[in-house]
Amino acid sequence: METETFAFQAEINQLLSLIINTFYSNKEIFLRELISNSSDALDKIRFESLTDKSKLDGQPELFIHLIPDKATNSLTIIDSGIGMTKADLVNNLGTIARSGTKEFMEALAAGADVSMIGQFGVGFYSAYLVAEKVVVTTKHNDDEQYVWESQAGGSFTVTRDTSGEVLGRGTKITLYLKDDQLEYLEERRLKDLVKKHSEFISYPISLWTEKTTEKEISDDEDDEAAAKKDDEEGKVEELDDDEADKDEVDKSSSSKKKKKIKEVSHEWALVNKQKPIWMRKPDDITKEEYSAFYKSLTNDWEEHLSVKHFSVEGQLEFKAILFVPKRAPFDLFDTRKKLNNIKLYVRRVFIMDNCEDIIPEYLSFVKGIVDSEDLPLNISREMLQQNKILKVIRKNLVKKCLELFAEIAENKEDYNKFYEAFSKNLKLGIHEDSQNRSKLADLLRYHSTKSGDELTSLKDYVTRMKENQKDIYYITGESKKAVENSPFLERLKKKGCEVLFMVDAIDEYAVGQLKEYEGKKLVSATKEGLKLDDDADEEERKKKNEAFEGLCKTMKEILGEKVEKVVVSDRIVDSPCCLVTGEYGWTANMERIMKAQALRDSSMGSYMSSKKTMEINPENAIMEELRKRAEADKNDKSVKDLVVLLFETALLTSGFSLEDPNMFGSRIHRMLKLGLSIDEDEDAGVAADDAEMPPLDDDEGSKMEEVD
Ligand code: ADP
Repeated sequence: METETFAFQAEINQLLSLIINTFYSNKEIFLRELISNSSDALDKIRFESLTDKSKLDGQPELFIHLIPDKATNSLTIIDSGIGMTKADLVNNLGTIARSGTKEFMEALAAGADVSMIGQFGVGFYSAYLVAEKVVVTTKHNDDEQYVWESQAGGSFTVTRDTSGEVLGRGTKITLYLKDDQLEYLEERRLKDLVKKHSEFISYPISLWTEKTTEKEISDDEDDEAAAKKDDEEGKVEELDDDEADKDEVDKSSSSKKKKKIKEVSHEWALVNKQKPIWMRKPDDITKEEYSAFYKSLTNDWEEHLSVKHFSVEGQLEFKAILFVPKRAPFDLFDTRKKLNNIKLYVRRVFIMDNCEDIIPEYLSFVKGIVDSEDLPLNISREMLQQNKILKVIRKNLVKKCLELFAEIAENKEDYNKFYEAFSKNLKLGIHEDSQNRSKLADLLRYHSTKSGDELTSLKDYVTRMKENQKDIYYITGESKKAVENSPFLERLKKKGCEVLFMVDAIDEYAVGQLKEYEGKKLVSATKEGLKLDDDADEEERKKKNEAFEGLCKTMKEILGEKVEKVVVSDRIVDSPCCLVTGEYGWTANMERIMKAQALRDSSMGSYMSSKKTMEINPENAIMEELRKRAEADKNDKSVKDLVVLLFETALLTSGFSLEDPNMFGSRIHRMLKLGLSIDEDEDAGVAADDAEMPPLDDDEGSKMEEVD
């Protein structure tokens, strides 16, 4: 028969070397991984058979068999699942690397445990933790039976199976164990392992066990038994002579000569319970049982952070268990991955594990199962999308998830863990789920001008609001460090108003949708429309405004299209000026985020791009000096220079980026020379032209993106 040899894809090959050559103490997890693959394969064929019964014809039973064989030092796992076609074998077991392959190796290098392998979608290769050679025989309904074989070492072979062995349908994986891994031939060890890791697999897992029974037989029977000795089903061992003699003495009363022999037989022993845990009463289930179920459901190596087990009754009935993991998966927002992690069952039968509409995307990190009493068994993906029952289930799941999160929030340490892992999801929820927005808002946490190292909730913020404070203030930016000393916060801080730091890119989107909390408006400290009831004398301010009116006009003339307008500020105390953006346009931070999105439609930029208003601080000495000079001579060159420099500096302190940092650099250098009293002519290294202040009206000079 023709055997084809294939090279393992490079990353898979690397992974195999790591698995084979590194010392791991936790090798036993290979069995969980292979059983989990079998269970998935069984789920797939069972699902297909719901709409087409004939798919089961090749092998009507659904099972997982474990066969240890001490004669060949091999452990075999057989399932009657969907099997693999030849193409599946070549692609899935060696030539196409999953995205998780590289991530898993990186995780290992960073100290991760090998038991995490299942999370990365490369569980099959864990077989090589214990085996030196692996042989996979498989039969899919759409293809012939094939054999895959490899001792790692860079390649594997695939051959049409002509051995005559009939699988009917499914996959048989034989592991030829390494010499130091023979413990996996022991019944006790295998039973314990299944109990520990695979107890909740919903197909019967049976172990081929050896049973020794003592039997009394007469001499003539003995001959028959001896003839049976080589029979596959049972081996007969004679008791040694001494014992046999004793036996005879004991049984001396017996008239016929009898012999006692040990008979060794084999039988299948069921090793998992399979009663679905969700059908039991929550009160009867221990934490350990939930944890074991969670692990077998998700391949997670750590237990869950929190769980909710509930049933809904009434016009619609279903049971569900929802888990929140301790960490975000490596591919949380990877669009190629599964849509969600809820397995849908109908009356105990697994239907599918990525039913699109069962839970919203932002809750895709919640893992669990739903078992409906009402959905039809043979429901198709398309039918599900329109299904009213599913809509009700979804609504209930969201409600229960939010309850679950609120429960986690009762324990600060747990909630910190949860929030670190999944805050982006909550914010996505704020953006997408208008119905639950206020409940989600309760779950948000931020650093603030008053929170120190802790995070604060909006609820707590509200309790700390000043007596006549109407709005909730926030500032968005790249990091806590970048915003905590921002000029925009000067007056707010001085007035004792707390400001929330929103430094996650997604905060910009979330806060844009949230708009208010408990009737209090969320107001950005960097946008127009920030009104601070000021205790300062209204009259005096009016006077200042008037005094600076001229300078504002001159500055607008100098800056032209770069700014929308120049006004006297209410929000800065120390800095000379800042650049605020329109109440409904992008903030500087949003502009930064949008620029970073390479595939964004560039036409959006011109509508949304921040329209900047320059706000100046009349109390600031620089502004005062500038005012005097501008009044003396509007065309004074130094006024122009200073205004542009102030504008460019304000771009930076207000969170924008400079279009032309070189020009800005040259201006600063010129200022430095002035400060150091270096005469332009003395500076031999610099050509006279370069030392000139860059022309202000040169568009190339300090060009910002066009604002219309
Ligand atoms: P994962 O199971 O996480 O997808 P694995 O490396 O464990 O990753 O398996 C790779 C693929 O090989 C599976 O997705 C599946 O398509 C196929 N496979 C593995 N084991 C079996 C099996 N017992 N029956 C059918 N297909 C299997």
